[in-house]
Amino acid sequence: MGRYYLTTAIPYVNGAPHVGHALELVQADTLARYHRGIGDEVRAQTGTDDNALKNVLSARAAGLDTAEYVDLVSRRFLDLAGPLSLSFDDSVRTAFDPRHRPGVEKLWNACLERGDLYRRSYTGLYCTGCEQFHSPEELPDGLCPEHRSAPEEVAEENWFFRLSRYQDRLYDLVSSGELRVEPGFRRREVLSFIRSGLEDFSVSRSVERAPGWGIPVPGDPGQVVYVWYDALANYVTGPGYGTDPEGYDHWWTRADQRVHVIGKGILRFHAVYWPALLLSAGLPLPTTVLVHEYLTADGEKISKSAGASVDPVAVTEAFGTDALRWWLLRDVGRSGDTDYTEARLVVRHDEDLANTIGNLVNRTVSMVARYRSGVVPRVADESGEPSLARARVRAAEQVDAAVRAFDLRAATGAVVALADEGNRYVADHEPWALARAERAGEPGKRGRTGPEALDTVLGELVATGRELARLLRPFLPDASARLTEQLGGDGGQLPPAAPVFRRLG
Ligand SMILES: [Zn+2]
Repeated sequence: MGRYYLTTAIPYVNGAPHVGHALELVQADTLARYHRGIGDEVRAQTGTDDNALKNVLSARAAGLDTAEYVDLVSRRFLDLAGPLSLSFDDSVRTAFDPRHRPGVEKLWNACLERGDLYRRSYTGLYCTGCEQFHSPEELPDGLCPEHRSAPEEVAEENWFFRLSRYQDRLYDLVSSGELRVEPGFRRREVLSFIRSGLEDFSVSRSVERAPGWGIPVPGDPGQVVYVWYDALANYVTGPGYGTDPEGYDHWWTRADQRVHVIGKGILRFHAVYWPALLLSAGLPLPTTVLVHEYLTADGEKISKSAGASVDPVAVTEAFGTDALRWWLLRDVGRSGDTDYTEARLVVRHDEDLANTIGNLVNRTVSMVARYRSGVVPRVADESGEPSLARARVRAAEQVDAAVRAFDLRAATGAVVALADEGNRYVADHEPWALARAERAGEPGKRGRTGPEALDTVLGELVATGRELARLLRPFLPDASARLTEQLGGDGGQLPPAAPVFRRLG
């Protein structure tokens, strides 16, 4: 048991959430649920990045006041908790949360006292989409590779952070695994970025360019704290840095694991800039940065205007929460982008949940109803048919190892493999033949007779169904609850059969 603090990144709120946002939320929620399930003390935090310049631009385009617009969109993100069955303990909305600004100011002052903040004039190419300056080498054909737009040339006097000072320490921390970056190819990417040389970066904007939005630099009201500095700080302001010393100490300083779940596009901010700010302020670093890839939709990059096909709420309304969560966890790999289509979601749901897990449970429940009037047989001899019992132990071990390695695809795969074993067990043992033999008073298959043979088989199947329900809990909390109910929890009498998963296709 340990103390486990987990965060998602906080998205900009300049447009509606899409399935790519759902991916990160569901991954993080699954980790949080898993760790609660093994007895860890867990705090899972999400939120929204309200103070970005591009939120201001989107509000303007929508003809709304910035605060009003940001409030509206930010709620849409947090409201995903219902349709996606999320279990976050806390959320930070950076423009509205009273805990946030005092923490950002405290972090700023800590870096200032360390001598890591200084003013200088600067000219650079700024991408509003990324909210960052790019060097010309990072801009093939003069365009931001992420946003395919030409950055704006900006000249002003800003505050800078002495990132260069932390180059060697960051390299050691990441290469030694003290700051773990997963998967490994993302760790190597961070190391090569650090090795290429870290330059000081600008951590403020002029008030004019951030038109009146954001947190003023302490002691310098002409400048606004750079939105990334502001946003990253949410990971410590949520637990109480700057407002609640005990909460901060409990959940940040003394957590056994501090895990950030993020998308690949913001890796440098989390594995380089953020640790450097923490080193400067003398605060503990995250222990782990878990990086996911992106989703495309029907082969295209998902844009804010993509519409209902990638609106996670619309997807859950059409296909159910379990189907979307399952697709995100089961089909999305750790390297390379994954293409989301409704057809893929339906096929994955039907193959794994309806045809494999659902089929096993439905058959089990209906055989217990038919042959034993719904009463789950007590299995006297546990060693009688150990094959399925072994498969249950193996599946639980595989799920645990995969979740600890942050490989949720392998974890869900291990659950399906157990259900496959269960279906094979039914085919091998032919409970219907055992029931026939029992009625006729004949020796059953494998030379055994009497109720023990059929009781053993049915008891093993019920135990396997219950284990599937237990293993699915962090991944599909809703389906897990339905399976548990269908399989009678601790009781011996099963309720009337009703399929837990209906085919979608
Ligand atoms: Zn960009």
